[in-house]
This record gives sequence, C-alpha cells and structure tokens, in this order.
Amino acid sequence: MFLFLANLFLSNSLAGELYKKYEWEVSPSIAICPDTSITKKDIESAINYWKVELSKNLDYKTIYYLSSCKTMNRLNTIYITGDYKQVGSQLAYTDVLFYYYLLDEGEDPQKYLEKAIIYIDEKHADSKIVLYHEFGHAIGLGHSDHEVMKSYHFHW
Ligand SMILES: [Zn+2]
Repeated sequence: MFLFLANLFLSNSLAGELYKKYEWEVSPSIAICPDTSITKKDIESAINYWKVELSKNLDYKTIYYLSSCKTMNRLNTIYITGDYKQVGSQLAYTDVLFYYYLLDEGEDPQKYLEKAIIYIDEKHADSKIVLYHEFGHAIGLGHSDHEVMKSYHFHW
C-alpha cells in the first residue's frame, strides 16, 4: 500500500519535470553555421535559460562561427544549422550521436553525447522557444511535460 501511494505521489510530482536522457562527458564547443541567422547572443540566451531551469551551470568551451558547414565532423561539438533540406516539414530537429561504456547485461548505461546537430528552419530562427527546445535536446534532454520540452510543439 505504501508503495502504491509513493508511486502516485511520484507520478504527480513529475508533471512538467525534465527528462535527462544523455550527458556531455566532455564539455562541448558550440559551432554556428553560416546558413543560419542564429547568433552567439541567441545561444547564450538558451544557455542561460537552461542554467536557471536545471539550477546548474552548463559547461561549454566556446561559441564560434564557422565559415563552412560542409563537414560537421568535429566531436564534442553542438552545431547549429539552418539546412532546410534536413529540416524538411518540421520546424526544427536535433540529431544526437552518443556512446556509452559496456556494462554487465541488464544494467542501464549512462549515455554520453559525442556530437549534436541542431537544424532550425530559417523561418523559425528568431523563435526563442524553438531554439530553447532544440538546445535542450543538444544538452541531453528528452521530451517530457516540461513547458519547453513538450514534443508536440515542434515534432511529428
Ligand atoms: Zn523535440
């Protein structure tokens, strides 16, 4: 009986909470491609937003502008691009690459991010909530009931 009540309490208190799916093991750099109008300042605003929401510092090395994004092959990097072909019919989406260390069978490993690519349709590049949502994915958050991390705003 106690367990049942405890579970009920837990599921209520989780509404609107964040779901942390991945971590960065190595602090990433943040690279802005030339095909987006998103600026360093926009990224800093997303970082500050998540700093407050998560009540912790987000460690990153640097934010810089790239002159080309033909090969987005640097590891420990969060790329931001406006590549419309990749975005397709969505407002935006984020691709993540992750790794984990082998554990004994049945154990759930901690997954670490190796690279994240945020694609934002240029039409929505000035929308703070779209950037905050996608940046949330790039720092390891999955979808949840949280006001910014709800899936239906942005994805099919
Ligand atoms: Zn999403």
